[in-house]
Formats: sequence, structure tokens, C-alpha cells
Amino acid sequence: MKKLMVGNWKMNKNGKECAEYLDAFLEKYSGHREAWIAPQALYVKLVINSELKAGIQNCSEHTDGAYTGEVSPRTFREMGGHFVILGHSERRQHFSETSRGLNAKIRTALQEGLTVIYCVGETLEQREQGLTLSLIGDQLHQGLNDQTKATLENLIIAYEPVWAIGTGKTASPAQAQEVHSFIRSILTAKFPSFGQKTRILYGGSVKPDNVEELLAQKDIDGGLVGGASLKAKDFLALCGDM
Ligand code: PEP
Repeated sequence: MKKLMVGNWKMNKNGKECAEYLDAFLEKYSGHREAWIAPQALYVKLVINSELKAGIQNCSEHTDGAYTGEVSPRTFREMGGHFVILGHSERRQHFSETSRGLNAKIRTALQEGLTVIYCVGETLEQREQGLTLSLIGDQLHQGLNDQTKATLENLIIAYEPVWAIGTGKTASPAQAQEVHSFIRSILTAKFPSFGQKTRILYGGSVKPDNVEELLAQKDIDGGLVGGASLKAKDFLALCGDM
């Protein structure tokens, strides 16, 4: 399977900037690695209309109804959307999302046919206290318990150490591989037919100068990238195209 690079643009780029980026990116993109993009939800149609797979950065646990301000995973799928990022640490931090609460969003999004990128990761304090693996185990169990087995082939996990997101500090390849291999062992025990093939992405200050050594690790199947996905030139480099 090809390595997968996912750009999380967070709340950046207006419509003109999105369109210019897509033009510049697509001019040089070879498809050597898969490239998916989650722009601001308001501009997601621009990505849907390109040849890249489009995502949103959150969605409702409901498909429709009286939920003012929410984004429906069903509607997003119907308009050609492909994936949703759930459980990003910024949403856990600023919007009080919890793994238990995310369980319902993951279920609905998978049942509606979206691919879910479920983010897990520890803070620096938790790492220093030696809690990394137990915390990630809990995040996986709480988010993934009782999910419909038939939908799990559309599940992707992103390991994003909170201390590495937007900080310029990257987990070393060995640190990342240790956690990815742990995640793989949990997935394999929980879902014997899917665990080995579930994609596990690394996220946290991935840049053109550290991407290759991260991707060389056995259980790192790609990257979830914030800052370095905002410039077409850098994202191309992460996709192996420059
Ligand atoms: C992210 O927001 O998911 C992320 C990994 O950000 P950055 O690449 O900027 O650390």
C-alpha cells in the first residue's frame, strides 16, 4: 500500500488561497504517495472537485436533525467527501472532546461510509510520567469499543504526541515506532482481521527534512501534517515529489 500524507489545514486559507494551492500542488503531484487534504469545511468543495481526497476536521455524531451548527457526516459523504479527522488534540483541548464521547462520532462517520482518522497522543507531562502507552491504550479502547466490525476497514489511526504538534519538536523515529507498534498490537488483538492492515499515521512537526526517516519505520504508514502542509512546495516534498 502507498504511504499516505494527509494535510490538516486547520482554520487556515481562504477560497482564493485554497484554489491557488491546489493548482500549484496538482501541477507537480505524481501520485507516488497518496495525498489527502482537510481544508476549512467551508472550502471543502474545492478539494472535492480536485483529484485529491477531501476531508473535514470534525463532524456530528448525528446524521441530520435539530443540531444547530453541526456538520453532518451523511451530507458530507453525499457531496463527495472522503474522510474526517476525529479526536485531534486541539479539539480535545479547546472543545473538551473525550475518547468516550468520540466513540459515537466514529461510529456514525464509519457507518455513513467515511474514512475516519482517529487521533491519539500523550502530553509531555504524561510522557515524562511514563504514562504514554497506557494512555494511548485507553484512548483506543474508549474510542473504538463496540464499533461495527464491517466498517473498520475505513479506520485510520494517527499517533500525534501533543508535545510535537505545531512545536517544531518531532518524536524521534524510534519513539514514534515504539508507539506505532504498540498501537498495531492493540488493533490486532481487538480486530484480528483488520489490525495488521490498518494504516497508522504519525503527526507532530513532520517536515521535508524528517519525513523520510519517519516513513522508513515499519509501522509508520504515512503522516498527518499541519504546518508543513500549508505550503504546496513543502507538501509536495512530503509526498516525495520534489
Ligand atoms: C496536526 O495538527 O495534526 C499537526 C501534526 O500539526 P504540525 O504538523 O504543525 O505539528
